[in-house]
Amino acid sequence: MCDECGAPDKTCEARFHECLAREFENPAFGRVHNLTVSAYMLQHSSKLTSEGWLYERDLLREFIINDMPPEQVRKERKDEVDGGKRAFTIKSRTGQPVIARMEWSKTILDVRLEGSRQYCEDVIIWASATLADSENVSA
Ligand SMILES: [Zn+2]
Repeated sequence: MCDECGAPDKTCEARFHECLAREFENPAFGRVHNLTVSAYMLQHSSKLTSEGWLYERDLLREFIINDMPPEQVRKERKDEVDGGKRAFTIKSRTGQPVIARMEWSKTILDVRLEGSRQYCEDVIIWASATLADSENVSA
């Protein structure tokens, strides 16, 4: 089992790469790319610094709660996310989780890859559940 998201047999990482490949190949899947990345990162905090984790949660809030299009979020946060200009580091240097171990309502394994419509719906449901689960978590 994955210690972080709880997916059986640690199949979450392989599924994540499968999702990304599908999203890059096909724009109908790629529509939800920003959600896939932020939700996966929130569930795998060992890939992030504390600031990075909080930042990903902010992004997910903008996408899901404020329903902001990714282009607009990127534009408004340009100073933060623009490579060299960013004031903090997102990627973990230690590989240690920055949040306490927790139960997640859904994992990336709940996302079905059959058709783009189904796929996007599943990603939205998974990302929304992930955001709701993470709302009271401190990093
Ligand atoms: Zn996992």
